[in-house]
Amino acid sequence: MPSDFIRDKVAADAESNRFGRQIATRFPPEPNGFPHIGHVKSICLNFGIKQEFAGRCNLRFDDTNPATEDIRYVEAIKNDVRWLGFAWDEELYASDYFEKFYEIAEALIRKGTAYVDSQNEEAIREGRGTVTTPGTNSPFRDRTAGENLDLLRRMRAGEFPDGAHVLRARIDMAHPNMLMRDPILLRIRHEPHYRRGDAWCVYPLYDFAHPLSDAIEGITHSLCTLEFKDNNDIYKWLVREAGFDRPPEQTEFARLELDYTVLSKRKLLRLVNEGLVDGWDDPRMPTIAGMRRRGVTPEGLRHFAEGVGVARKPARTELATFEHYIRDDLNMRVPRVMAVLNPLKVVITNFPEHEVDELEASYYPHDVPKTGSRKVPFTRELYIEREDFMEDPPKKFFRLAPGREVRLRYAYFVTCTDVVKDAAGEIIELRCTYDPATRGGDAPDGRKVQGTIHWVSASHAIDAEARLYDKLFNVPDPDAVPEGQDFLSALNPNSLVVVPGAKVERSVGEDPIGTRYQFERTGYFISDPVDSTPGRLVFNRTVTLRDTWAKVKDKA
Ligand code: ATP
Ligand code: MG
Repeated sequence: MPSDFIRDKVAADAESNRFGRQIATRFPPEPNGFPHIGHVKSICLNFGIKQEFAGRCNLRFDDTNPATEDIRYVEAIKNDVRWLGFAWDEELYASDYFEKFYEIAEALIRKGTAYVDSQNEEAIREGRGTVTTPGTNSPFRDRTAGENLDLLRRMRAGEFPDGAHVLRARIDMAHPNMLMRDPILLRIRHEPHYRRGDAWCVYPLYDFAHPLSDAIEGITHSLCTLEFKDNNDIYKWLVREAGFDRPPEQTEFARLELDYTVLSKRKLLRLVNEGLVDGWDDPRMPTIAGMRRRGVTPEGLRHFAEGVGVARKPARTELATFEHYIRDDLNMRVPRVMAVLNPLKVVITNFPEHEVDELEASYYPHDVPKTGSRKVPFTRELYIEREDFMEDPPKKFFRLAPGREVRLRYAYFVTCTDVVKDAAGEIIELRCTYDPATRGGDAPDGRKVQGTIHWVSASHAIDAEARLYDKLFNVPDPDAVPEGQDFLSALNPNSLVVVPGAKVERSVGEDPIGTRYQFERTGYFISDPVDSTPGRLVFNRTVTLRDTWAKVKDKA
């Protein structure tokens, strides 16, 4: 069971029955984009606590901003939370609480802790003061409750244009926390809402909607990221003023920041809208949909979230750490098959022309708790990886070269006898002999070879396209590009390399689209659920086999 400062607090509160009710958390996304790896951290934390403390966890759409939200994002979020393996207790919408928020607004006015301010935006901002100087009271601060109620009702009825009035909390214009200097609670927005249509023209601000939504639902622990630390004062003030008994408490933790990508929906939306990626589910995107399409598993993501943990101190997470968890998970679960990305034809000159030797090949190595095998056809014409042959190899090259013998995985020892070139001098074919006595991969005379390479039968192989992905940005922190520069200037133009002429072993043709594999020696792949057709498979590389990136970095 994971352990961190938040779980310690929840455990203590559960022990003392501090809230007098079941432990309750919520995942509160705004439906203004697809969820990303940062949300995975929050989902795993909130739903994890539900599971560990026999509590409950709501999925609440924080949909109080009519301009940016959409039902399409609601569907994506629900789909992704389910896919991650979590079930919410209730599906709720902050926009269903608008009536309740409004009632609370009237109650605050009656208590004298809220008022309608008719200053314009700029005057309100100026009146706030600065961190070093106190603010000044609005000339409208001492309106009577009757005046305030009349104005608020007319605001709701749609009598005023946007910006004419706002509802503000009446706290303290000299408060050391700027957010406590009479924060705005409701504002006029004549804009249709994706769920409520034109029913409302006063919309709550985050600091009004969020604490009240938590309190209405009986949440006990409201977990959010550090940028809301200063909002905690207004959170506490509001739930108390609104009269909630044993109200929820907010605790902040450090957000996930992953190297070489951005995790802001606003920025991800720009990548989508400007056509720089192939939609929210582009496999290069840090979205759950993108990672799923790339071949990442829900278990891999959950292990990653658990591995990075929850802490108070902000920190960036290296891409190598992410890939480590993804690779570790795939290693234990996916079958090994053979695929040649850049094929070079090999003719086995002493193997009969129309014969097919069906060789037994295990899907899993011994250290993986899974079993299974398939037959791979060995024939006279094969493909090997172009980079597994060198005409004039350096000392450390242990693969195929003229006159050299290597093992073809699961099959035979072969020796290269001739190199065939075209008019331009390009190698187009190798001629080899095989040793029939080495069937299965070992020589009865004890003879050793230094290299084992993968291959496919030319006549049985399936044509495929492989898509190799690299990091989306060229710099570790694309949010920190110099002043005046757009984060898009750090985009990696080579984040996708398409390999059009790959050859994949026959057995893969029988698997459903969306199956994950380890292509021996080249990486983990998944058949792409969007672009694959039965006649032409597309494979996305989820992650390479070893951590090549960490090594490159070590050298630098
Ligand atoms: P973005 O900046 O990407 O729009 P957000 O915080 O506005 O993020 P919300 O949909 O409001 O996104 O977030 C839903 C929940 O997920 C919130 O509780 C938020 O704190 C949490 N969350 C968002 N981003 C991260 C992150 N990078 N790491 C951890 N939690 C996150
Ligand atoms: Mg937000």
